[in-house]
Amino acid sequence: MLKVEHIGIAVKNFADAVPLFEKLLNSSCYKTEAVVSEKVNTAFFRQGETKIELLESSSPDGVIARFIEKKGEGIHHIAFEVSDIHAEMKRLVGEGFVLLNEQPKQGADNKLVCFLHPKETNGVLIELCQER
Ligand code: ZN
Repeated sequence: MLKVEHIGIAVKNFADAVPLFEKLLNSSCYKTEAVVSEKVNTAFFRQGETKIELLESSSPDGVIARFIEKKGEGIHHIAFEVSDIHAEMKRLVGEGFVLLNEQPKQGADNKLVCFLHPKETNGVLIELCQER
């Protein structure tokens, strides 16, 4: 894995969270993007080599809404950039990790993504992402 590409943070709503993170990081949100298939809106901040991805549910039954219901707002996942997502998925399956999607899927920010089941990763949801 190359680096931590971004950290995903689940928030209740962008109206409050985006201005707060702009103040916190002293930089502007440079992009928002809806991932319709996941019922999630994303807002990105650049912090050096790494990004912060705020995640807001676009529907009461979306994954982020359910996450916040269970755990409250907070860190949702850590995303590692990989150069070959298929090879990395194969390697991790060989090591006994469980993938949440068998094929890479289209994520935000023009990325191919795959998630690992947090049960096998000490409760941390891990995302692999590869620039398209
Ligand atoms: Zn992500």
